[in-house]
Amino acid sequence: TAPDSDKIVMKRIDVSQSSEADVSAALKRPSQKSADAILNIVTPIINDIRENGDKALLSYTHKFEKATSLTSPVLRAPFPKEMMNLPAETIKAIDVSFENIRKFHAAQKEEKPLQVETMPGVVCSRFSRPIERVGLYVPGGTAVLPSTALMLGVPAMVAGCHKIVLASPPRADGSITPEIVYVAHKVGAESIVLAGGAQAVAAMAYGTESVTKVDKILGPGNQFVTAAKMFVSNDTNAGVSIDMPAGPSEVLVIADRDANPAFVASDLLSQAEHGVDSQVICIAVGMDEQHLTALDDELHKQAMALPRVDIVRGSIAHSVTIIVKDIEEAMRISNDYAPEHLILQIKDAESVVPKVMNAGSVFIGQWTPESVGDYSAGVNHSLPTYGFAKQYSGVNLASFVKHITSSNLTAEGLKNVGDAVMQLAKVEELEAHRRAVSIRLASLNK
Ligand code: NAD
Repeated sequence: TAPDSDKIVMKRIDVSQSSEADVSAALKRPSQKSADAILNIVTPIINDIRENGDKALLSYTHKFEKATSLTSPVLRAPFPKEMMNLPAETIKAIDVSFENIRKFHAAQKEEKPLQVETMPGVVCSRFSRPIERVGLYVPGGTAVLPSTALMLGVPAMVAGCHKIVLASPPRADGSITPEIVYVAHKVGAESIVLAGGAQAVAAMAYGTESVTKVDKILGPGNQFVTAAKMFVSNDTNAGVSIDMPAGPSEVLVIADRDANPAFVASDLLSQAEHGVDSQVICIAVGMDEQHLTALDDELHKQAMALPRVDIVRGSIAHSVTIIVKDIEEAMRISNDYAPEHLILQIKDAESVVPKVMNAGSVFIGQWTPESVGDYSAGVNHSLPTYGFAKQYSGVNLASFVKHITSSNLTAEGLKNVGDAVMQLAKVEELEAHRRAVSIRLASLNK
């Protein structure tokens, strides 16, 4: 057994014996590199892509991905079969996940336009249309992430986006992981940009000789990717929007005395292995020392058996177990933290869901590990981190459409609403606005 100093253990804080400030300090997210420093790195890269297009894009891929043999930065559909050579079990896993994600996102479609007659003869409608061209960033620096390609590509396909462009850094030999090519093929992507980082984001935002310019860029990525997304979405010349601010992944597990310590530990670790900057929170409801020790022991035992134990050590170092007396206290802390993933390993977990105010995605009950949502259940895994679950939704079908409204008035409708319009136009001193109504009303009275 390892000496105690080597034990992988989460620090503990007991709410009944701590100040509110101590609890908030324990829940603080690991700090990010200053936005200015990152912006100073990505701005010249973005400008270079705007000025030098494909040539610059290729040179960054040669530099960062070491893919010096790559001569074209874009792979266009139809993608060659030999680039999708995969074992049958991988194909099956992708197909099952694809179908569940498709079903759940297809159910989010609005069947018919919303239509309301606000006054007799005044009809207001709202209908949706797909965003025509979307750019989906699939990170590739340190891991193979076909699941991210699925989570972005499937809803784009379901929404009916006309052009789906994927971007992902190639491997050093210039190739792209076959799993990603297979997903790109399944969702009907028009092309794959073989590039990563700020340069890939810039290429999709502005377009190059061979990269299709897109209208919206979605997908997670490291700090360079995130900074570039923020930059281009603030540049009116780019005319591009983004999904949401992204930060390191996080989970908050609420567990009570009934929870199986092995299950709880496995959920905490499945998040902790993402990266050293991941944060893992366990809220222990009504647990005594015996339960808490059982949890600590399980966490250590399982962590030591993981291939990524070194990453786990890093993330567990800034993670915490918070001891609370009841579920109300647990939910207050959870809603304040607004976790990306919230796991409820508690008795009657479903009955607690109405108390969830802020969370990216909720995993209910002991048979629902977060991993099912990460890959195959059907829910999306691109979720707001860093407390942004307070105001953002995760990626969903609506992320790939925009809503257009319309009004349609009869003469009677204009008579009914005209006075209110003319009066407010007068208050705002916009005479042409007032006349657009009065001219019509006068013509009706002739
Ligand atoms: P990445 O694809 O995001 O970034 C790789 C790129 O970073 C390279 O192509 C290069 O262009 C750029 N880069 C690296 N060093 C640079 C430097 N010094 N200067 C300028 N550019 C540089 O891959 P990654 O780095 O492995 O990061 C993946 C991120 O995505 C992680 O933070 C991970 O947590 C996150 N992620 C999140 C989710 C989610 O759904 N929330 C899913 C998967 C991954």
